[in-house]
Amino acid sequence: MPQKTIKLASGREMPLVGFGLWKVPKETAAETVYNAIKTGYRLFDGAYDYQNEKEAGEGVRRAIAEGLVKREDIFITTKLWNNYHQREHALQMGRRQNETWGLGYIDLYLIHFPCALKYVDPAELQYPAWWMNSEHSTVELDKVPIQETWQALEQLVDEGVTRSIGVSNFQAQSLTDLISYARHPVSSLQIEHHPYLVQPGLVATAQANGTAVTAYSSFGPQSFLELPPDFSKRAAGAALLFKAEPIVTLAAKYGKTPAQILLRWATQRGIAVIPKSNNPARLAQNLDVAGGFDLAVDELAAISDLDRNLRFNDPGFYLPSHPIHVFA
Ligand code: NAD
Repeated sequence: MPQKTIKLASGREMPLVGFGLWKVPKETAAETVYNAIKTGYRLFDGAYDYQNEKEAGEGVRRAIAEGLVKREDIFITTKLWNNYHQREHALQMGRRQNETWGLGYIDLYLIHFPCALKYVDPAELQYPAWWMNSEHSTVELDKVPIQETWQALEQLVDEGVTRSIGVSNFQAQSLTDLISYARHPVSSLQIEHHPYLVQPGLVATAQANGTAVTAYSSFGPQSFLELPPDFSKRAAGAALLFKAEPIVTLAAKYGKTPAQILLRWATQRGIAVIPKSNNPARLAQNLDVAGGFDLAVDELAAISDLDRNLRFNDPGFYLPSHPIHVFA
């Protein structure tokens, strides 16, 4: 069945529901992606930081070779990591990541965070990079204007390396500034977005400019509980959204899982989602949220009322010795 899509500012279409590749182990990524395609997924959300682009690309190529899909049916998003914001590094990384995927082109290339870190040779950037050296002691900022990085991404569009470009973890001020000089449009803004962190003004700013919003960590604390203590501390203190009201009551009312209610709350408001799961049954249920049931307007509002401006992916918090307050 064809996937529901959302229009990007570039004019291209992106599936409304995709599969997130963060924390999908390298060893199983090819198989996971191949099985996700079999289940019906067409959008894959990767990043240099996730260190599984090569294997994810292999999974897609296997599905293409077996005739399950064509390249143009698949939508690949990936991201430029913070150490490569200087113009020449951004160009090198874009070209290199495209070759690593091995699919001819990237569909959407995002600046992962609105802050630059000092260059590290990619061969020395150990996963998980997560901002620090392997001893978790050093975080070194670099002085690179976003405009320089954006113009490198625009050149990658001109070269055919990527079809659309966008940003992640930007706030309304940096997004508005970027839009003022962008030669190629800001196609998508990918942000942490769940009922504890709704960011209505940011979503409205993006959508008013034709920038498609993609939600990450749609299940709130869930994804962060599996991380080391500095990263999981805030999530450990928050009540699980899967057990929160009105999510539980709405799940019972519509005969859906709490996960599906959380994802539908986003897609129904025109926001794309990219949940991650390694479990086949959850993989299927997470995909089935682009339609089929609609929450009432007051139910959408009741879910948004859970908002408490609670952010889990915050380098101002999880880098205690070198906090970077990109969301201040
Ligand atoms: P997520 O909100 O998709 O949650 C994943 C967690 O929920 C996992 O523990 C998984 O086992 C569990 N889960 C998945 N489906 C479930 C279901 N149906 N029922 C119960 N539990 C379920 O978290 P995420 O991985 O943080 O976010 C999704 C994707 O967003 C990532 O894989 C990545 O691609 C992207 N992302 C981007 C950024 C960024 O900075 N741009 C940051 C974080 C994540």
